Amino acid sequence: MPTADFQLNFLRRIQWLLESSSYTSTYKFALLMGTANLAIEFGVSDDRECSISYQQLAEQFIQLYWAQALPFSDQSSDSILRQSSTTGQASVVNSILNLQHKTQTTSLTIARRQNTKLWQSTIKDIASTIKKYPAKHLQSAEDKVSREFLYIYDAKAKVITLKPGIAYCFTRFSKIINKLCQQYWTEFVRKNRHNQPYFSDDIDLQDFLFNQSRQILKLLIPILIDTQQRQCFYCNKPLNNNIEVDHFIPWSKYPIDTTHNFVLTDHKCINSKRDYLAEEVFYDKWLKRNQQYGYMIEQEAKNIGFITNQQRSETISHWAYQIAVEHEDLVWSPEPSIKLRPISSDLLLQLRA
Ligand SMILES: [Zn+2]
Repeated sequence: MPTADFQLNFLRRIQWLLESSSYTSTYKFALLMGTANLAIEFGVSDDRECSISYQQLAEQFIQLYWAQALPFSDQSSDSILRQSSTTGQASVVNSILNLQHKTQTTSLTIARRQNTKLWQSTIKDIASTIKKYPAKHLQSAEDKVSREFLYIYDAKAKVITLKPGIAYCFTRFSKIINKLCQQYWTEFVRKNRHNQPYFSDDIDLQDFLFNQSRQILKLLIPILIDTQQRQCFYCNKPLNNNIEVDHFIPWSKYPIDTTHNFVLTDHKCINSKRDYLAEEVFYDKWLKRNQQYGYMIEQEAKNIGFITNQQRSETISHWAYQIAVEHEDLVWSPEPSIKLRPISSDLLLQLRA
């Protein structure tokens, strides 16, 4: 794995990228967040170089910008927040608006399925925008001096190849990268003068930009309830009208919803668990649940327009638990007398097996 110096340097340069103000849109944040997500999905855990295609990045951009391209104010349907500080809207947002308009839906998965040709051409457009702008300029933020520490930009390539050690750093520091990017991104949108008319004091802008999926999650209850014998996944108490949908790997650790990541809990457990990983036995229980019901969950969730990829979900969980062991993180237990305790290092043997 990369040396401590290398990792520190990585963080220092990410900070430099984020702090630099010579940019005119929010693409930079989407590029960093998308790259971190993809590095995790590829399961990189050593020094390897890692190639990420512009198409894959375009998928990430769509997921990040999709909900942000919905009207911000309930008073006005044209209150789409500006993601660019120069003239007009950022072209990625325009591509998404065009797709939403032509498919007549604001559901990402329905749009994806409904018109494959249109979906492909949208991906292509966004991929070429990413290549032309943020991928090209990301590392030359200051005085046009390029510091190509993440990748060497190649205008002819269809991929970005992360230098040795970089994908590893993205997976290790993805949580702070995501959090910082969300904050800088929110600030950028908030400061944009075109957006001022839509803001009022009682609206949490960051919540609008990044946490929109909560309502829709309720749709998963009928699918998951029988996989848990109508009991809370953690404390086994019966679920009646107190049902919550929990991100098994917390949203704050990995901000993309994949169906197999969800379990049902009661109020008490979800409020107590917050952003922690559940203790080790639940990792096992979760894997077994997916072994037994994974296929059914996938079929049912597809019907209501959810993204599903069991393999990807399991790679992400594996990554999250592995990091937790390496960092000696606390895990959460539904047992009130325990609640939080250090994760057991024995888990690593199982994870490596
Ligand atoms: Zn419970």
